[in-house]
Amino acid sequence: MEHDFELRDITKSYTRGKERLPIFTDLCLDVSNGDFIALMGPSGSGKTTLLNMLGGIDRPSAGTIRFRDQRLDGCSEAQLTRWRAKNVGFVFQFYNLMPMLNAAQNVELPLLLTRLDARTRQRNVATTLEIVGLADRSLHYPRELSGGQQQRVAIARAMVADPAVLLCDEPTGDLDRETADEIMTMLQMLNKELGKTIIMVTHDAAAARYAMRTLHLDKGRFFERTLADA
Ligand code: ADP
Ligand code: MG
Repeated sequence: MEHDFELRDITKSYTRGKERLPIFTDLCLDVSNGDFIALMGPSGSGKTTLLNMLGGIDRPSAGTIRFRDQRLDGCSEAQLTRWRAKNVGFVFQFYNLMPMLNAAQNVELPLLLTRLDARTRQRNVATTLEIVGLADRSLHYPRELSGGQQQRVAIARAMVADPAVLLCDEPTGDLDRETADEIMTMLQMLNKELGKTIIMVTHDAAAARYAMRTLHLDKGRFFERTLADA
């Protein structure tokens, strides 16, 4: 199968003062087109760092990251920003919606970076809100929505520019079991029916079961389990 991402011998360390803090060394990973990966591991193991490298927000200290036939390491900030806007949507634990914008305006935000005219933007926003089941909440402000509904708005925002990849950092971390299952069912639908490649950090084994495979990151190394082993 074709790969969306190929990570080769990724080394990442942060420096704090004179101290060098290694996060991982020689990490390799292939992410297939249409993959759904749950990324687990102890707090501080580098899950968010890895997600940020896949999204072109952070860079490896050494090694190569390819997205399809493009090298991401070595891209300029401007190139990465353009690449990200086109190819990646982010979903966070605490939704990160703008409180003074309604649901439709929040979802529209990524489209303001494109050349789409206002009518096309509004049509795409409406379609995306419908996909996440919130067509009737488009004029609601975040404070007027439940946690699960806010996360749906955030997923719509991540999806509205039709990226190939969704990067989700503990998307159900702030939700109760039932709402978490609704959000996971939705992510699974986006993966299965719309073919989105999803990489999701989670602490929740129940949420991870919706993915096709689970990677455990610990002490800078991966331990993998696929659905077939479960
Ligand atoms: P996780 O998401 O698995 O909890 P992170 O990727 O957030 O882990 O962090 C991994 C390690 O890298 C932690 O020890 C954290 O303190 C460190 N770290 C993360 N970002 C930075 C940074 N910008 N500068 C220095 N250290 C960082
Ligand atoms: Mg994290």
